[in-house]
Amino acid sequence: MDKAYLDKFYKKSLTERMDALVDANILSSDDLLLNEGLLLSDELADNMIENYLITYQLPLGAALNFLVDGKDYVVPMAIEEPSVIAAASSGAKIIAQAGGFKTTISERIMIGQVALKNIPDISLAKSNLTNHKKDILKKANAAHPSIVNRGGGAKDLSIRVIEQDEEAATPEFLIVHIHIATMEAMGANIINTMMEGITGYLETLTGGTALMSILSNYATECLATATCQIPVHLLKRNDFSGEDIRDRLIEAGQLAYVDPYRAVTHNKGIMNGIDAIVLASGNDWRAISAGVHAYASRSGQYRALSSWRKAENGDLIGDLTLPLPVGSVGGSISIHPAAQFSKRLLGYQSAKELEAVIVSVGLAQNFSALKALVTEGIQKGHMGLQARSLAISAGATGKAIEQVSEQLKYAKNMNLATAKELLQEILS
Ligand code: NDP
Repeated sequence: MDKAYLDKFYKKSLTERMDALVDANILSSDDLLLNEGLLLSDELADNMIENYLITYQLPLGAALNFLVDGKDYVVPMAIEEPSVIAAASSGAKIIAQAGGFKTTISERIMIGQVALKNIPDISLAKSNLTNHKKDILKKANAAHPSIVNRGGGAKDLSIRVIEQDEEAATPEFLIVHIHIATMEAMGANIINTMMEGITGYLETLTGGTALMSILSNYATECLATATCQIPVHLLKRNDFSGEDIRDRLIEAGQLAYVDPYRAVTHNKGIMNGIDAIVLASGNDWRAISAGVHAYASRSGQYRALSSWRKAENGDLIGDLTLPLPVGSVGGSISIHPAAQFSKRLLGYQSAKELEAVIVSVGLAQNFSALKALVTEGIQKGHMGLQARSLAISAGATGKAIEQVSEQLKYAKNMNLATAKELLQEILS
């Protein structure tokens, strides 16, 4: 990647941006001809979902300045909210000056569940399952042999007993977890096939009745961590010293650790970035969101996903850990033309590399949001970029969008009513 071509990317026209990505050796010149080809055809969309009518579009933009494990990335983000891509890029820029993100990606093990009830003897059922562990794993693998040929498959088994809860009137459940390496796939279909393939055998071994067999989206064995360490001189802003911003940012993280009302908003900011790249990559963002929010509650209280602390030398250290069972194949990744475009733009080679970038985007987003919150507040930057949406909502088109949004930035009340007044003045 030749980053020099990406300088002042946000000031370029759409054509100049695409040309710059080709000149920087990120996209190929074929991508310039593809704009129409990136849209979902009616035929493809009709085969993706049921009762298809139209395609609902979202803008896809590029976040810049991401240096992750020593490699530069331009990150595709599909999102309707203004300011998210700008915030990710500006956070990543400071972090790149500090050496970039370092990531740790765990093994990619997903969990499948078979939930059984009406077990006559729980301890006998448990010992039967343990004694037949090899056979159970073998049967699971036989249900989806191609993943075994790829080096993955069912690796382990664990058992959980959820006791009867008289107050909630729930029966006792015995839940069998199968731990499965799904390689480059997120694995929902692989896992579901395997779980259904062993259900009857588990009923025989336990004497119970299966209630359901499906993957768990709580992917606690597929974790990605990003860290960054930022010297205080890179944090200084206006009247705030770097030390002051570092300390306030650490306190902001602490507040989101102890207060669930704040934690939800703190994590929503992280998910602004995560959802946008997960969606752009063609992965199932509902699956990721569900798992991430459950992970935020793993202590029994919903807490901040990220944490910020002071290093011994006074630097600011941030880290973020998330369950990220994304795939580089499967689902709509290989068939959605925009997901394929995202793959070329990001240039990732494996699901682990995609995880590394996604978790870094979340940390960059969190850093930018907290930095704004503990200094000038969120509205200044956010509403500056929101001005364009307000101008369009007020009815502005063409050059009037720029004129109204520029004047809105200096207006006492930046809202729709003001935008309408400004538009009338411009048009009269
Ligand atoms: P797919 O079934 O679409 O694709 C996985 C397949 O890709 C594998 O079975 C494998 O088939 C093939 N493949 C090719 N190369 C590789 C490789 N290197 N590593 C692994 N597999 C490879 O997708 P998933 O099983 O990942 O399931 C994801 C989809 O399931 C998403 O669309 C999601 O929305 C949906 N879903 C999600 C649920 C949830 O989250 N709760 C529930 C149900 C569905 P082969 O080996 O035979 O070539």
